Amino acid sequence: MIPTAFEYHAPSSVADAASLLAQHGAGAKILAGGHSLIPLMKLRLAQPEVLIDLGKISEMSYIRDNNGGLAIGAMTTYNDIEHSDLVISRARALAEASGMVADRQVRNRGTIGGSLAHADPAGDLPAVIIALGAQMVTSSTGEHRTISADDFFVDLLTTALLPTEILSEIQIPALPSGTGTAYAKFGNKASHYAVVGVAATITLDGSGTCTEARIGITGAGPKATRATAVEDALKGNKMDDGTIQGAASQAGSGIDFNEDIHASGEYRAHLTTVFAERAIRQAAARAG
Ligand SMILES: Cc1cc2nc3c(=O)[nH]c(=O)nc-3n(C[C@H](O)[C@H](O)[C@H](O)COP(=O)(O)OP(=O)(O)OC[C@H]3O[C@@H](n4cnc5c(N)ncnc54)[C@H](O)[C@@H]3O)c2cc1C
Repeated sequence: MIPTAFEYHAPSSVADAASLLAQHGAGAKILAGGHSLIPLMKLRLAQPEVLIDLGKISEMSYIRDNNGGLAIGAMTTYNDIEHSDLVISRARALAEASGMVADRQVRNRGTIGGSLAHADPAGDLPAVIIALGAQMVTSSTGEHRTISADDFFVDLLTTALLPTEILSEIQIPALPSGTGTAYAKFGNKASHYAVVGVAATITLDGSGTCTEARIGITGAGPKATRATAVEDALKGNKMDDGTIQGAASQAGSGIDFNEDIHASGEYRAHLTTVFAERAIRQAAARAG
């Protein structure tokens, strides 16, 4: 189908984009890679009057050191993240998950900012961002705000971003030594969207005891969530089979499982424990 008519703007700076967003209000939409927004517009499920295309803002695409962690511009593509040595060495789960998104065409255009702002319940990166304890930096006219990943995903396709805010940067803290990260998913065979995906960040001390754990889950419920019951069951314990299986068995705790043509709630609950175990084992192996 053909989208409804819209006004098109292609600003060359974040400040100009923010001022256009402030000027046009709720009738305006940001366009990043377009891989979620354009199909919605063609189906007329989204009918923005104004499109503000971030594609010409080169200052929004970068991967940088940030005090031993990472600062990633919101317009950085999956492809750039997947192949970045800095991301692979400091936040491997993010490179891993980016490489599992869709196909090469989507990874060449789709952006980290678009993925997170869209908050698709089957999107891969939200789980990883939660497991890495990331911070989202927003830009609006003259202001910046920082939102933690734990608070960013509010509900189905809903984030804590205000209508006047652009997601401009994602900051990933430096992880302590002895930390490993991993992402494991059961993907839809056609689109590769996560039926269930689990990201894990695990820190081990010299004796193999888990000192810190962060687990993010996507695909299972209406929004990506942090699995604190799993984290509590890991922390303070040796990472043996009993600990890992016992912790992973709690991965579905508190999730209101989605039911759709791809999987029943019961099947998603099963996948959640299976993929939690895989992600934890892989992250622990990398930590060691
Ligand atoms: C065939 C196909 C298969 C796919 N498979 C997968 C998959 O396996 N895993 C997966 O995770 N995803 C998958 N996707 C979705 C894909 O990852 C999208 O690229 C992503 O969801 C949106 O990113 P985008 O840059 O294309 O954003 P857009 O589509 O341009 O925007 C998405 C939404 O976010 C808003 N937005 C974008 N950037 C910003 C910003 N910086 N600040 C504020 N708001 C912003 C837009 O206004 C819009 O509402 C698939 C898509 C397609 C078409």
